Amino acid sequence: MIRLYNSLSGKKEKFEPIKPKEVGMYNCGPTVYDYVHVGNLRSYICADIFRRVFEYNEYSVRQVINITDVGHLTDDGDCGEDKIEKRAQERKKTASQITIFFTEAFFQDIKALNIKTDGTLFPKATDHIKEQLELIKKLENKGYTYKASDGIYFNTSKLPNCDFFRVAGDQLKQGARVEINSEKHCPTDFALWKLSPINGKRQQEWSSPWGVGFPGWHLECSAMAIKYLGEQFDVHTGGIDHKFPHHPNEIAQSETATGKKPFVRYWLHNEFLSFEGAKMAKSVGNFVTLNDVIEKGISPQVFRYWLLGAHYRSPISFSWQALRGASNAYDKLMEHARSLCTEDLGASPDEAYIETFKEIMNDDFNTPNALALLWKLIKDKKIKKDVKFSTMEEFDKILAIGLSTPPEAEIEVPKKVADLIQKREEARMDKDWKKSDLLRDEIEELGFMIKDSPEGPKIKKMKC
Ligand code: AMP
Ligand code: ZN
Repeated sequence: MIRLYNSLSGKKEKFEPIKPKEVGMYNCGPTVYDYVHVGNLRSYICADIFRRVFEYNEYSVRQVINITDVGHLTDDGDCGEDKIEKRAQERKKTASQITIFFTEAFFQDIKALNIKTDGTLFPKATDHIKEQLELIKKLENKGYTYKASDGIYFNTSKLPNCDFFRVAGDQLKQGARVEINSEKHCPTDFALWKLSPINGKRQQEWSSPWGVGFPGWHLECSAMAIKYLGEQFDVHTGGIDHKFPHHPNEIAQSETATGKKPFVRYWLHNEFLSFEGAKMAKSVGNFVTLNDVIEKGISPQVFRYWLLGAHYRSPISFSWQALRGASNAYDKLMEHARSLCTEDLGASPDEAYIETFKEIMNDDFNTPNALALLWKLIKDKKIKKDVKFSTMEEFDKILAIGLSTPPEAEIEVPKKVADLIQKREEARMDKDWKKSDLLRDEIEELGFMIKDSPEGPKIKKMKC
């Protein structure tokens, strides 16, 4: 049984999908005007953990991560500039040059972090203008919209007792920042369609029954989630900054348009990753990308390992020192994995450990406890080497930190052995197999094992 913390109820709940053994999951995706930072990447690593846990429990997961390539303004209150248009102007590029470049960079980052993408849909907002216009039409027909001089707005004061305010809950109480846009009847109203400026032309704009313009940011998620997951689906995720206003707005417009409640059964929000005392944010400029991490000689796997040391609902503070500490621990982990990864693989995992691991992960995705269990397993003298390794491999189906494929340790090869390897390579080129076999024997006598591979010979030190 999976239990998860649902922002809608503010409680841990038993997971019950709409369709047996299937999960529809929507993860709010990146706004592709810049590289994503490691805070953004926390959201996608968390979503990947959720997916892997569902799959481990034999659910098939239909996952959607949208690509925001229009309409996200510099201010959440529907004021400000479109982040993508602004960046295109600054860089003297077209909007699509910007979005294509940073979408590709995002794909590279998530691949490097072992985030599963097989079967995942990555729909773009600009490819779904028709669906967004249809959604506005439905809301207009139901009388939930009004026109202002700068666009079409959703009228939140008409909402019946909807989940809108429940997800927003704490954020609203804490007086979340809502820029007062003078065009709004009520501060919680939000733009569905923004009109292009009267005296200027935007790069990204479309005609609509209300005038030339572009979709409001929240609209794309409702339109694409409904298109790919249906009018009601199981799980929706994002960082806690989306608890207000993005997700309540999605709920308001989706439930009003379809007439079905709830739009989403379980809302999962990851806490922030902070840096230098504040939420890591592109707008503040205190951000670190995965490339910065790699350039410091730290692997993406180490970042993933470090991040999983905190529960997704706990804040985590990024520092280079913390990451270096994690890197040392990770190296030790890999040393253990290497020493356990014998020639004699294929043992069954330890059932008791797997059972505990599953319980931990099924209890609201408790990755720090899972890592603690991993270290307990490594130190457990009662578990045989091959069983330990296959148990770790099983853990890695969810953790995905490279436990099943520990990198070879760098070994020092004496000059004499290196010369013999070279001679053997020459003999193999000449197809002199007899000589090559004799040279292999000589190499082995000196305590080194040689394994041929398409990339060349691989050398291992023999244990005895
Ligand atoms: P954005 O590209 O700004 O739409 O953000 C993409 C995802 O990253 C969203 O789910 C955000 O909630 C999440 N996010 C943004 N900043 C952080 C942060 N510092 N820590 C964790 N998640 C974040
Ligand atoms: Zn979204």
